[in-house]
Formats: sequence, C-alpha cells, structure tokens
Amino acid sequence: MEHLLPALPYDYAALEPHIDARTMELHHGKHHAGYVANLNAALASLPELRERPAIWLLRNLAQVPEAARASVRNNAGGHVNHAMYWRAMSPAGGGAPGGPLAEALRRDFGSVEKFKTAFDAAGAGLFGSGWVWLAHTRRAGARLVVLTTPGHDNPLQQDMSPILVNDLWEHAYYLKHQNRRPAYLEGWWQVANWREAERRFAAADAAAAQVPEDSEATLRAA
Ligand code: MN
Repeated sequence: MEHLLPALPYDYAALEPHIDARTMELHHGKHHAGYVANLNAALASLPELRERPAIWLLRNLAQVPEAARASVRNNAGGHVNHAMYWRAMSPAGGGAPGGPLAEALRRDFGSVEKFKTAFDAAGAGLFGSGWVWLAHTRRAGARLVVLTTPGHDNPLQQDMSPILVNDLWEHAYYLKHQNRRPAYLEGWWQVANWREAERRFAAADAAAAQVPEDSEATLRAA
C-alpha cells in the first residue's frame, strides 16, 4: 500500500480571504505531499509496516525500527494531521457548534467563547511549530481538553480523540500574516468546520475506546 495525498475537499481559493489560495496550494501540494512522499520513502525498506494505516503507525511507533522511527513519526504525523486539518475547515464554516458538542464545550470550558479563547491562547503560546487541538479524553472522566503538540504529534498518541485542529506551523499563515500568528488564529474561526467537529465528537463519545478509523478510510480512499 502506498500512502496517497488526499484531495482537498474544496478549491484552493475556497477559504479566501481568511486562508489565501497561494498558501493552500503550497500547503497541500508541497508540504502535505512532501510528508506523504517521505512516509512512503521511510517505509520502502520495511515491508512488514507498509500495509499499516498511517494512524496505526502513529499509535504504534514502538513497533517501528529505531532507525526509521523519527521519520515515520514526523511524516505519518504530518500526513494524518494535515488530512484532519483540511476537513477541520470549510467554505461553509464559521458560525457556532450545536448539539451535544456545544453542550460539552459549555460543560468543560464554561462557554463556547471561553473554549475559543483557550484554544487561541494555547495556539499563540506554543513555541515553534506544532498544532493546537480540541480533543476528547477518557482520563478523569470523559471530557474535552485543549492541548498543543510539537512537530507533527497527534493526540491519538496520548490515547485522545481529536475533535478540532489548527495548524501552527508558519507555512500555514506566513504569506498572509507573516509573524502574526494570533491574527491567523482569530481569522481561522470564520472557516472552522463545526459540522466536522460535531461528527468527530459524536464518534468519540459513542465509541469512547475506539480510534476514529473513518479518517483513515478517507486517507486511503483518496
Ligand atoms: Mn502544515
């Protein structure tokens, strides 16, 4: 099995003006494509791992030979995280969450606005490159948490289910915002895909102990 770059679920320009088309073109066509190519290269000499889904590799890094482990971690993570990120945005995005997700955000953060403030503060506060997440954890009772991960790590590696994600690498915003990460984070809510977050939350809440394999099916089908 070769890992494949999933098609974007919308055009490069579809998230304008909040995310510019040139950034999307480079981000998807060069950065994400590069992680996919490098993941395939890292697995070329590891036939026993070539049939494993990228999410499985991320969750089972101890089973990757040490010489390839850092490359598999970085590039499987880059592949999985970007596939989640494209779907965390939508031209029909923005607005507000509804249903059980909105209720859980109020329960765990006080309000949806307080959650967004916490998410943006965590994202602005991460030093260097990484990701900011809303994730569902089973620890200390099922609840929602905000966390950041360095590099291309994913909450799945901490046995949490990702619900919503934003990319904090400069390549995600530098052409439009240069060093102003908080401006990117603030504008991003206009394209945030709450329907995808609601779907992910429902899956995480319904099958608390299971990995959301649906996202992997998307990666492999593309
Ligand atoms: Mn990125």
